[in-house]
Amino acid sequence: MDQDPLQPYRQKRHFDITSEPVGRAKSNSDHKFVIQKHSARTQHYDFRLEVDGVLKSWAVPKGPSMNPRDRRLAVPTEDHPLDYADFEGIIPEGQYGAGVVLVWDRGTYQNITKGDGGVTPMAEALKKGHVAVWLNGEKLRGGFALTRTAGGAKERWILIKMKDGEVNLTEDILVSAPRSVISDRSIEE
Ligand code: MN
Repeated sequence: MDQDPLQPYRQKRHFDITSEPVGRAKSNSDHKFVIQKHSARTQHYDFRLEVDGVLKSWAVPKGPSMNPRDRRLAVPTEDHPLDYADFEGIIPEGQYGAGVVLVWDRGTYQNITKGDGGVTPMAEALKKGHVAVWLNGEKLRGGFALTRTAGGAKERWILIKMKDGEVNLTEDILVSAPRSVISDRSIEE
């Protein structure tokens, strides 16, 4: 792991005396993820994973599924800033992605991408075209795999629920839990 950039900050302070924040170390094992339901020209779900200070992003037209048999197309989109993870609202007419955005799910994830003798770092795994993450969301939990199926200008990935104790073969979570996790609103509201 890289050296903690907050170490000098912490060394100067006694946190049992001062009430200043200790500052959460950004460990490799605890990063943000968010899924935003986006009603633009066509409705889709934007799946975003925090990697190296940005949100790596894919548009998933059919949204995620808890059933490992569902292979969901995921089209990469541009990296978004980290604070985009809290964005919910209306993108005005005429603007890029105009429409309604809801925070459909959010939480943290762990990189569980298996490599030679350990976990492959996210950036490297993305370059290679396969990542596995364990999601700790309010709705989605468990392992999900993203795999690149086509490269170049028409880059395509698929998003699949991995087989584990969190699998749900009977319920469509997009239907049973359609609302925002921050405002409890639906797209229509
Ligand atoms: Mn979008």
